[in-house]
Amino acid sequence: KELVFSGVQPTGNLHLGNYLGAIRQFAALQNSYNCVYCVVDLHAITAKRQDPKELRHQIREVTAAFLATGIDPKNHIIFNQSQVPEHAELAWVFNCVARMGWLSRMTQFKDKAGKDRENASVGLFAYPSLMAADILVYRATHVPVGEDQKQHLELTRDIAQKFNNDWAEDIAAQGFGDMFFPLPEPLIQGTATRVMSLRDGSKKMSKSDPSDYSRINLTDDADAIATKIRKAKTDPEPLPSEAKGIETRPEAENLVSIYATLTDTSIDAVLKEFGGAQFSTFKSALADVAVNKLAPIASEMRRLMDDTAYIDQVLAEGSGKARVLATETMNGVKDIVGLLRNT
Ligand code: ATP
Ligand code: MG
Repeated sequence: KELVFSGVQPTGNLHLGNYLGAIRQFAALQNSYNCVYCVVDLHAITAKRQDPKELRHQIREVTAAFLATGIDPKNHIIFNQSQVPEHAELAWVFNCVARMGWLSRMTQFKDKAGKDRENASVGLFAYPSLMAADILVYRATHVPVGEDQKQHLELTRDIAQKFNNDWAEDIAAQGFGDMFFPLPEPLIQGTATRVMSLRDGSKKMSKSDPSDYSRINLTDDADAIATKIRKAKTDPEPLPSEAKGIETRPEAENLVSIYATLTDTSIDAVLKEFGGAQFSTFKSALADVAVNKLAPIASEMRRLMDDTAYIDQVLAEGSGKARVLATETMNGVKDIVGLLRNT
C-alpha cells in the first residue's frame, strides 16, 4: 500500500476549515493507504511563542480530534512531530537543498510575517523545509491538505527532485535506483477546500485569527455555532439560483460551499433548494447542518480529553512506530550524502 502523510498544527482552536479541508478526509483514506497523521508541534512555535501549558493542551486536543473523527491508532500512526527527531534532522539537510529564492516566494510566509519581515523568526521562513521533511521522511506519496497548502506541496516536490538530481549517482551507488524520494501528490478533495473567514470573505478561516467570530471551532456548542453563522458577513441580495456568477459574492459562495460539503452535495444542488431565499433562512438551515455534523465530534473530543493518559499513550506508541520508518529513511540520506554514521 502507498503511504499518506498529513499534519495539523497545535496552534489553537481546530475549526471547520481544518475539518472540511483536511481532517474529514483522513479517516476515509485508511482503507486504501497506510496513513501517518502528525500533530506538527515544531511548526506551532514558528509564528510566536506559545504558552507551554496551552501548547501541551493543544497537542492533546488535536490528537483527540484525530481519534474522534475515526482514525484508528492501531492500524495507522498518530503521533506528535517532536517525539521523532528525524523530522528536524532531515529538515536541516533540506535547508541545504532548498534555495532562498524558493522560500522567499511562499505566500504563507508573506502572510504570516506581515510587514515586519525583519522580525519574523528564521523558523517561520524555513517552515516549508520542515514540512517537506515531515512528508518525505516517510517517503509518502499522497498528502491530504487544504488548498492553502498547495504551494508548500509543490515546494516539497521541488526539494525531493533536487535531492534526487544532486545525488543521483550516489543514490544509485547505494542501491536505491534512480530516485530516493517520491514526488508526493496533494489530495485536495471536496467543494470546501478553502473555507473562508466568516468575517472577511477574502481571508481563509484560521486558527491563528484573533477574532473567534471568524471561525467555527470544532468544540463550539450549538448556541455558539448558530450565533457565529447568524453574524457571518453577507451581502444584502438574496441567494442566487445557480452557481454561475457566485464567485463575485465571496461570502455567499463560502457559506453555500460549506453547506454543500457538510451535506455531501454540490453547490448547484444547494442553490436549487435555496435560490431566492434570504440569508436569514439559509443561515438557520446551515447552523442546523453544522451542529448535527460537529456535535458528535465535539462530545467525543471532550470525552477523550478527560483521560489524557490514553492520549499520551497513543502519541508514545505512534511515535515509536513512526521512528522506525523515519530512521530507515534518515540512514539512507546519511549514506547518500556522506554523513558518517555508526552502523
Ligand atoms: P494556522 O493559522 O496556525 O496556520 P490553520 O488553521 O491554517 O492554522 P494548519 O494546522 O496550518 O491550520 O492546517 C491544518 C490543515 O488544515 C492543512 O491541511 C490546511 O490545508 C487545512 N486548512 C487550514 N485552514 C483551512 C481552511 N480555511 N480551509 C480548508 N482547509 C484548511
Ligand atoms: Mg496554516
